[in-house]
Amino acid sequence: MFTIQNNATPLMNINKDINNQENNAQNSSLLRETAGVAAGAGAGFCVSKTANLALKPSIKNLKSFMDEFHKANSGVMLQEAERMAKEACLTQKGFMGIKIFDVSSEARVKQAAKTFLAETHQSFKNGSVIKKITWGSFCIFSKLSEFPYLLIGKIPNIKAKLQNAIIYGGYNPFSNNVISGRTSSLLHEIGHAINKNKNILTAMPGKLAIASTVLLTPLAILTAMFHKKEENNDKTSENKSFVSKTKDFVKEHIGLTVAGLSLPLLAEESIASLRAVKSAKKSTLMTETVKKGHSKLLLMAFGAYVAGAATLTAMAKTAVWVKHKVTGQN
Ligand SMILES: [Zn+2]
Repeated sequence: MFTIQNNATPLMNINKDINNQENNAQNSSLLRETAGVAAGAGAGFCVSKTANLALKPSIKNLKSFMDEFHKANSGVMLQEAERMAKEACLTQKGFMGIKIFDVSSEARVKQAAKTFLAETHQSFKNGSVIKKITWGSFCIFSKLSEFPYLLIGKIPNIKAKLQNAIIYGGYNPFSNNVISGRTSSLLHEIGHAINKNKNILTAMPGKLAIASTVLLTPLAILTAMFHKKEENNDKTSENKSFVSKTKDFVKEHIGLTVAGLSLPLLAEESIASLRAVKSAKKSTLMTETVKKGHSKLLLMAFGAYVAGAATLTAMAKTAVWVKHKVTGQN
């Protein structure tokens, strides 16, 4: 009996030691993981700040070009946008029209944003059950998607996005209308409306762009950050499931994945612009100089979208690389 008791104490101590070691290992790996994510997010944020600083002059240039174009051609552009919508029979297909906001002061922009949000909300309250479910899930997913984007250092700035759409123009696929404080990009926004309302195929890039922004890109970021490749030797690449192969690929090629996922948005934007240029060509109100200015404006705006996609790609790649360097993961 004594022997057993004497033996029991060291055994229990060994068990305790093993438990403590396991706890310590878990704690330190959690700590390293957290430090890795924080370092990755910080690095991604630095990439974003640097890119914003580099792109600031060209964005400022684009905005002032849009302002001047609007001042010089506002009447013509509004008429042209209405003609473009009419020729595509948009109203018959459910398009709710163009809403021009007074954005002459900051207070008016804020008021316009309030009105826009209230009206969008109202259109869902009055809509069908399917419309309500679509809107509800979009709102939930876009809120949830902010978290993965934070992991690569992308700070959500919804207010600025909304204000940009209100001042410089935007197409709202949910309330199916075009809003703008400037008429410069109205033809492009009508281009989006045609994409959405023409048929299932033309609506696809827009739908994919939304799915990518609120669902697929956030999922890819989470996978690249947290998925651990199986080190199990009996699982050769043929034995691995499709899902685990995809996760491995996304982890290894997060830059390529994010770049690929931004293609639907770039496709949607370029098709909308091509429709706008095509419609402007037929215009009898726009002079040749105005048509040229309009094409230049759309090209500059497309450049901003490409730069945005490239920045996001660089942010994701950097954040994941830094995180894995800190945690020592492959
Ligand atoms: Zn657009």
